[in-house]
Amino acid sequence: MEKVQSVRGTYDLFGDAKRKMKKVIATGESVVEKYGFEEIETPIFEFTEVFARNLGDTSDIVTKEMYCFEDKGGESLTLRPEGTAGVVRAFVANGMQQNLPVKFYYHGPMFRYERPQKGRQRQFTQFGVELLGVETPQADIEVIAMAYEFLQKLGLSGQITVEINSLGDAESRDTYREKLVAYLTQHIDELSEDSKNRLTRNPLRILDSKEDCDKTVIANAPRYADSLNENSRQFFAAVLKGLDLLDIKYRVNDRLVRGLDYYSHTVFELTTDKLGAQGTVLAGGRYNGLVAQMGGGDVAGIGWACGVERLSMLLQEDTALPRPIAVIPVGEDTQETALQIAHQLRLAGFSVEQSYSGNMKKRLMKANKVNAAQAVILGSDEVATNTATLKDLDSGEQKTVALADLIKELQA
Ligand code: ATP
Ligand code: MG
Repeated sequence: MEKVQSVRGTYDLFGDAKRKMKKVIATGESVVEKYGFEEIETPIFEFTEVFARNLGDTSDIVTKEMYCFEDKGGESLTLRPEGTAGVVRAFVANGMQQNLPVKFYYHGPMFRYERPQKGRQRQFTQFGVELLGVETPQADIEVIAMAYEFLQKLGLSGQITVEINSLGDAESRDTYREKLVAYLTQHIDELSEDSKNRLTRNPLRILDSKEDCDKTVIANAPRYADSLNENSRQFFAAVLKGLDLLDIKYRVNDRLVRGLDYYSHTVFELTTDKLGAQGTVLAGGRYNGLVAQMGGGDVAGIGWACGVERLSMLLQEDTALPRPIAVIPVGEDTQETALQIAHQLRLAGFSVEQSYSGNMKKRLMKANKVNAAQAVILGSDEVATNTATLKDLDSGEQKTVALADLIKELQA
């Protein structure tokens, strides 16, 4: 019979890959909880409009990547492609505006119909944060510092670049859009088909294009920085000053615009050169208009999300489990004692592997295979005198210990 296949771009996670992902998430949690962020879990699917209306109808996600389906009641639903829209929807739906600021983190699967390749999957995992209700640059500085500390704790800060830019407020954005459209219109014949369409609908998005022909045109486009008004310039300067104070190295990249409509002021990406084209491991920005757009009033927001798989791929060190103790009964009549000893050791906090079958040699081989550090060997004579043989599996040394002293011996 033909083997059952998994869906293209999806993966089964186990062993080292799964352990590394758990480590990334646990590290993220421990860092962001110090900054007062609490976990939120929103549904994996939402009404399609939660994403379609808010991410921007010319964004890659909305135009090409969403998994939309109609449920049996005829509702159009979408598997979430990212976390922010769902968290903001939850914020508004639960009336959380009363108690600002609100700080949430989340992690879980996201779904995008993309061309699968290294570091690019159709189901992948994000860990992200959202800080709602703080308008000042302190929030931008704090969430970037938090992202940086997170990657530092994973041992990755040496290979990460922080890229940052400002999109300014609405007025600056309008000024820039006008200049950009004027420039791009002169070069319209050189643009890709997608970008020609974007020119009237959302020209800023063209700066984010990955097409070579677009990149050539973009290289000489007007600079965003020249269109920022005084307010936006001051805001950005304050963010950069804060990063300097915290000794966080960054590179201002004035081509960085991010692919979604809801960003304003600060946008940033943490990138590595170790993952080829999929080098962005963490990305985020400020989204001051998003809450209002979802009917929640004038509440500022800023956040970021990282690709947990991409970060896991950068982790070098072995994430092996703690070494267990092997409990090995020799002969039928010692099985019950072995069962009890294994239970007591686990209650005392040890990780224990019981060996279930085979002769002594086979059982010791299995103990080595699970990387046990020590074996508690229970023969009939020993059980009769309430003792066991404790064998160090690295050195081969062994000694007889009273069962009553076993835990003390193992703790030593
Ligand atoms: P890219 O430019 O690589 O497509 P993006 O701008 O679409 O990234 P975001 O929406 O900002 O990505 O998502 C935040 C992070 O989630 C990315 O920096 C990346 O690490 C991760 N990510 C995004 N899409 C995928 C995917 N298809 N597979 C694995 N990780 C992903
Ligand atoms: Mg993408």
